[in-house]
Amino acid sequence: MVSRVIPVESFDLVIFGGTGDLARRKVLPGLYRRFLAGQMPEDARIIGAARSDLDDTGFRDMIREAIDEFVSDDKRDPKVIDAFLAQLHYTPIDAKGEDGWDTLAKLVRKDVVQAFYFSVGPSLFGDLATRLHKHKIANAESRIVVEKPFGRDLESAKALNAVLADSFDEHQIYRIDHYLGKETVQNLMVVRFANMLFEPIWNAQYIDHVQITVAETVGVGGRGGYYDKSGAMRDMIQNHLMQLLCLTAMEPPSDFEPDAVRDEKLKVIRALDPVKPDSIVRGQYNADEDQDSYIAHSENPESKTESYIAMKVDISNWRWKGTPFYLRTGKRLKGRMSEIVVHFKEVPHSIFGEEAGSKANVLAIRLQPDEGMDLRVTIKEPGPGGMRLVDVPLDMTFADALGPEGADVPDAYERLIMDVIRGNQTLFMRGDEVEAAWAWTDPIINGWTSRGDKPVPYDPGTSGPEDALMLLHRDGRRWREIK
Ligand code: NAP
Repeated sequence: MVSRVIPVESFDLVIFGGTGDLARRKVLPGLYRRFLAGQMPEDARIIGAARSDLDDTGFRDMIREAIDEFVSDDKRDPKVIDAFLAQLHYTPIDAKGEDGWDTLAKLVRKDVVQAFYFSVGPSLFGDLATRLHKHKIANAESRIVVEKPFGRDLESAKALNAVLADSFDEHQIYRIDHYLGKETVQNLMVVRFANMLFEPIWNAQYIDHVQITVAETVGVGGRGGYYDKSGAMRDMIQNHLMQLLCLTAMEPPSDFEPDAVRDEKLKVIRALDPVKPDSIVRGQYNADEDQDSYIAHSENPESKTESYIAMKVDISNWRWKGTPFYLRTGKRLKGRMSEIVVHFKEVPHSIFGEEAGSKANVLAIRLQPDEGMDLRVTIKEPGPGGMRLVDVPLDMTFADALGPEGADVPDAYERLIMDVIRGNQTLFMRGDEVEAAWAWTDPIINGWTSRGDKPVPYDPGTSGPEDALMLLHRDGRRWREIK
């Protein structure tokens, strides 16, 4: 199966922070892959902008190295790389000063799509928006792409929304959550809303509970200083896991238009119950044999920041009342795995008797590794030994189901940047959604801060703290194994 690539219209994409880690690791390699796929028009331009004193040649050299490092061998074609680099430009600029803006104003074409990617620290988002407006670089249709974190609480998110709104209309603002760019996440919507099979049973009557896991094997590494001010709740739950929960729980939108989808996600966030302290487990990883602990990377030897969190979340609406969503995410765990797992209820009565055993259906939507889906169904164990039931997987790993070309899906950043150029906001967070997510998150964080709660320690390479197992055990349930 060969994927169809529709070229986007011509654009000028300015990447503020074009010399930074995200730009070099994700954004520019992603754009190169779109160029290779034939999606980037020949007259489109990418303009790097940062304080470093570079010219076009210096920037191209830097990005050539980034492509060598971050694009797989089979996708690196020297001629294509040269052609891509020829579409790159650079202009020095300081977000906090007035120099360089007039040069940028002359550089950016007015007759093509204009997009400005804020790949800089969040403290500069407001400066960039204000100066783009003040120097009349952006027009009423220009798009700005804002990276995470979008605020650290409701107050700061509101302030940031307000400063962006001074210069840009909501339809111009693309708040990135790269989880929404993942193929499987979009497939979750297709599975739910393009098949008759699931939606009628997608509710509390038939679903026992849902587990959403994002497990990482890496620790905080060199990001200890940043992470200490954030923690798993702010860094992962408030945005990524919240978005996955919304897409799993939302009502069918009337169409696939950006606001129709985002209205439904917002309703889910507003229906989330406050979380009680005994429904949350916070953890912090201990030292391994190399004495590499969370604390070793923190500037504060007494840090109470969580590198792990597990929580039970209830949604108060007709569809979900009584069906909990269990969320967990953590660093230095025993496997790298992201998945949404829907555990259906058992059949109300087994005609095969207790000794045959019974299993509930489970639908696992895997974001990584091996993007795909796996539905476990109960069948008869083959053989003459009587009626014994086993559950077996109906596995749809995209790479197996669609062949290598079908599975050769763009990375989340590639897809999202192309959506920006196409002017499609469906997979980006709206301002009110982000604020609602913080409004739910703030009291939880304020609760443990005011009580002085400490995270419980857990050993690296495990599934996290024992207490997290208990969170499900006491409800008669078990976490899926982290592999
Ligand atoms: P980074 O490596 O520190 O890069 C920051 C960039 O901003 C550099 O290009 C820097 O270049 C530029 N910069 C700094 N101060 C500036 C100023 N006053 N005016 C103009 N440019 C300035 O950071 P990053 O990791 O790429 O992260 C960028 C953003 O993406 C952050 O908001 C981060 O939270 C977010 N993010 C990053 C990742 C990731 O994997 N790295 C993932 C998700 C989100 P000069 O020093 O040359 O000015």
